[in-house]
Amino acid sequence: MDLEFRELYQQLILDHNKNPKNFGKLQVCNHQSVGMNPLCGDHLKIEVNISPNQYIEDIKFSGDGCAISRASASIMTSIVKGKSIPEVKIYFEQFHSLLTTDAIPEDDLDERIAIFSGVREFPARVKCATLCWHTLLAAVNGKENISTE
Ligand code: ZN
Repeated sequence: MDLEFRELYQQLILDHNKNPKNFGKLQVCNHQSVGMNPLCGDHLKIEVNISPNQYIEDIKFSGDGCAISRASASIMTSIVKGKSIPEVKIYFEQFHSLLTTDAIPEDDLDERIAIFSGVREFPARVKCATLCWHTLLAAVNGKENISTE
C-alpha cells in the first residue's frame, strides 16, 4: 500500500468513526440482527426497513466497537441505502473477497469499498471490518444473532 493510499484509508476510518453516518435506531424496522466479534469486543445492531419489492428503504446501526468496525458500518449503511437486496449481496461478495483474497481488481470496485483493501495488512482486523456486512446479511435472512467466532 503506498503512502498516499494509506493516509487516505486512515483518514476515512477516523472520519467515519468520529462522525458515523446512519448511527442510531429506526422508527420503523422490519428486519434486525445483532452481530458480535468476541475477538475484538465489537457488537453492532443493524436495523433495516426492507420494502415489499426488496429494496433497503432505511438502515441504521448502533452498538459499540473499535474504529474499524464503526467506520465500516457507517460506510456500509451509506452504500446500501436505496439498493436492492440482490445488489447488497453483490457488494457483500466484493467486500468479502477484497478483504480475504487479492483476487479482486480494486479498480472495478466502489472506492468506498476499495479503501478497505488496507485492512488486508492487518488480518486480525478483517473480522472487525466484515462484522457489519455479516450482520446485515443475517438481518436480511431473518437471523437475529451472529458471531464471527
Ligand atoms: Zn474491532
